[in-house]
Amino acid sequence: MGRVMRLRAWLRYRRMSRLLAELDRHDRQAAASLRVTTPLASRRRFISKGELIYALSFVAIVVVLLYVGSAFPGLVGKSNQHAGATHLPAPSTATTGPFSFLMTTPHGRPVTYDPCHPIHYVVNPTGMPSHGIMVIRDAIQTISAASGLTFTDDGLTQEKPEPDRPVFEPRRYGQRYAPVLIARADQAEYPLVGGDIAGVGGSTAFEPNGPESARFVTGEIVLDRDEFATILARDDGYAQARAIVMHELGHVVGLGHVRDPSELMAPEYSGQTGLGPGDREGLAQAGTGPCWPDI
Ligand SMILES: [Zn+2]
Repeated sequence: MGRVMRLRAWLRYRRMSRLLAELDRHDRQAAASLRVTTPLASRRRFISKGELIYALSFVAIVVVLLYVGSAFPGLVGKSNQHAGATHLPAPSTATTGPFSFLMTTPHGRPVTYDPCHPIHYVVNPTGMPSHGIMVIRDAIQTISAASGLTFTDDGLTQEKPEPDRPVFEPRRYGQRYAPVLIARADQAEYPLVGGDIAGVGGSTAFEPNGPESARFVTGEIVLDRDEFATILARDDGYAQARAIVMHELGHVVGLGHVRDPSELMAPEYSGQTGLGPGDREGLAQAGTGPCWPDI
């Protein structure tokens, strides 16, 4: 590699480091936002923002680092844990691995969706490449199989993503929690995407009966408009685009980042195409949360 290219890669790394540092701060703020909420009198009552825990787990970032990851594998990421590595990790044959949860209750239970009810989702196809929806459905099938959670496809929507998306949208979705929204956006439309950030994802938790009753009720995945199309246009783009959606889905069902680059829940993309052992363990646990009769 020439010197100029190395410099470019280094500058790119520096820029991404700043982005990741900002996201780290956002992550800590999200964790700190867990608080007691007021019980819902009825599912049909609209809830104000003040009654929800915005698990604004919208921390969830996949940074596309193929090039930099190859050039500076020890430098990529918010930790130098792997500094000194000279090559990308080989596919793992381990049966256990790291995983984490974005939110836990005060007693330590991971906040999850209710596994006794399907997670409804809609896709906004605006600007989506023709096989983009196929990628999304493929990723959902994989996450569903690994977690045991059921996903129900509620079809297409014209709803645009927004960071403070309402939990209820009765005119659009009826008297129920809004389904998980999967959509594309550019940075002007959704400030957390753009640059090297290929996607964000997360869910909103609700506590009708105190902190131990926290459960996710809806969520959102926003894919960077240009990055997603660019990735999908590559020869090997399908697997990478699918990995990005799977990573964001991992956040939607409650998984946080881990620092092992062989796991899909690593904060940076470094060639992962499938679930690692820690991803599988975490997803399996995310699928065994409590069922709630009052969801
Ligand atoms: Zn992430």
